[in-house]
Amino acid sequence: MSESFDAIILGGGAAGLFCAALAGQRGRTMLVLEKAEKVGKKVLISGGGRCNFTNIGAGPANYLSANPHYAKSALSRYTPRHFLDLVEKHDIAWHEKTLGQLFCDGSSRQVVDMLLEECATGPGKVTIRCNEEVSRVSREGESFTVTTQYGQFTAPRLVIATGGPSIPKMGATDFAYTLARQFGLKIVEPRPALVPLTLGGEEVLFRELSGVSADVEASANKTTFREAALFTHRGMSGPSILQVSSYWKHGDPVMIRFMPDKPAGWLLEAKHTTPSARLRAILREALPDRLADVLTDQIGIDSDLGNAPDKTLRAAEERLANWRFNPNGTEGFAKAEVTAGGISTAELSSKTMEAKKVPGLYAIGEAVDVTGWLGGYNFQWAWASAHAAAQSL
Ligand SMILES: Cc1cc2nc3c(=O)[nH]c(=O)nc-3n(C[C@H](O)[C@H](O)[C@H](O)COP(=O)(O)OP(=O)(O)OC[C@H]3O[C@@H](n4cnc5c(N)ncnc54)[C@H](O)[C@@H]3O)c2cc1C
Repeated sequence: MSESFDAIILGGGAAGLFCAALAGQRGRTMLVLEKAEKVGKKVLISGGGRCNFTNIGAGPANYLSANPHYAKSALSRYTPRHFLDLVEKHDIAWHEKTLGQLFCDGSSRQVVDMLLEECATGPGKVTIRCNEEVSRVSREGESFTVTTQYGQFTAPRLVIATGGPSIPKMGATDFAYTLARQFGLKIVEPRPALVPLTLGGEEVLFRELSGVSADVEASANKTTFREAALFTHRGMSGPSILQVSSYWKHGDPVMIRFMPDKPAGWLLEAKHTTPSARLRAILREALPDRLADVLTDQIGIDSDLGNAPDKTLRAAEERLANWRFNPNGTEGFAKAEVTAGGISTAELSSKTMEAKKVPGLYAIGEAVDVTGWLGGYNFQWAWASAHAAAQSL
């Protein structure tokens, strides 16, 4: 015997729980099937345990997708302000950390509890079952049947909310893609995003700077972010590098502007004001000593600035403003905060997230080819896409 529901949601993460809650509030009977022993595991560890639950400035420009227009509809109908109102309704204290990023003052647990309370609001009913590994999904007529190790469940609507394969150690899977392919939906090649980059070859010397960070402008593929970069024992990380990693492809350089506040001509100016100073000392004023030393050694100016030709100093300044790194890879899905790519938006309605050629099948959250920047944007997509689908369940 199979149990019947108005809709079944596969995956009890950010998007799945929120979608279940909103559809439940519209009177639907909902089933959430979660493979892990508990729901919302990524929410719990997010934002260093304080969940960066949205970004107040989130808009379509903060997302990557093969179709940059796709996310507009959902994002405009469920905004960061809407989610913030919900957070405030639940008396969750929050603060803006930087760049519009909103975090809980307390713990990410509060966001999961809020989602669960919203699921319990009714008037519909949301049933959540954990430890349910989906082994089969089939469609007969207008009904989907989901088989797990514990039973069979049927519904006329099925929502794929199983996220992406980033951090497999936490149980993340590529199940969304397997299921989408089963129903003939195309996938945009998934790749690790918001991920540290690795350095090899002649650039291994920068790995010796492990732990050193500096405020920089980092660019890849014509996209620039100004935030900290951090050298690691494998290469580069830190917010600016994670951000550009989403735009980086194998073979691309990553350009770094060190000391981004220095005006053009600053090194020649330094030559005139402090001719007896050495480049190493000048760089040490603005950068961590170890980084200043490596950059000075690479540039190779040993003399006082006063004895260095203007041309040499201009070239040094240019190099510091456009330092070319050639990453040889990323740290992969094991370390990627999100997955870029996923179920092609060409297959889905931007209004409802429903598959155009499979009525009743929906996909939301990270499973879809919409990927946010670092800073609360990915959760905002989870909330907004869940909201869009819930209106049509
Ligand atoms: C370390 C880390 C920190 C992060 N911090 C932030 C942050 O502060 N702000 C932000 O905006 N984003 C953050 N992110 C990204 C954010 O967590 C995700 O983008 C978001 O959780 C995606 O929501 P989702 O519901 O689509 O997927 P998920 O939250 O990943 O949920 C998918 C769920 O589906 C379940 N599942 C998978 N396969 C199956 C299956 N076969 N059957 C049943 N269930 C299944 C999984 O167990 C999981 O519970 C972070 C990510 C990581 C890894």
